Amino acid sequence: MQPFATILFAVDFSESSDFAFSYAYELAQKFSSRLVIIHVINEPVDLRGFYVPHISFDNLEKEIAEGAEKMMDRFCADKLQGFTNYERAVVSGVPSEEIVRKAEEVKADLIIMGTHGRKGLDHMLFGSTAERVVRTSRCPVMTVRLG
Ligand code: AMP
Repeated sequence: MQPFATILFAVDFSESSDFAFSYAYELAQKFSSRLVIIHVINEPVDLRGFYVPHISFDNLEKEIAEGAEKMMDRFCADKLQGFTNYERAVVSGVPSEEIVRKAEEVKADLIIMGTHGRKGLDHMLFGSTAERVVRTSRCPVMTVRLG
């Protein structure tokens, strides 16, 4: 039995997710896993047609999506040299929800992600994506904290 046939890695292009990626990469190599890498474009509050005409919003969304794809290109080129068994996804929405949705879609056996380990007011204000994923995911989740 292959314990981690599919590993889902959630990337926000921060230093902490870079650090977490080393665990995903090591495990994927060790277990010959398929690695699925997801980045979620945080959905902006929809002010379409309210402050700004449609056309500007459409352009903005397109530029954001293109920028995110480019960051994913760079991430894969930098980090995955020689590793070919991977897929990538850039989607829009609420990160924790999209990560859990993707894990179900690709039948992930494990989710790996970073965490900032915020406390106190920071935690109250920003919450934790990792915490939300741990609470809602059906498959095991490995969180990796930098420092
Ligand atoms: P936390 O510090 O608990 O809020 O979790 C941060 C981790 O959540 C990052 O290292 C990523 O693994 C994941 N994450 C946060 N935002 C995103 C995003 N927009 N797309 C994909 N993963 C994300």
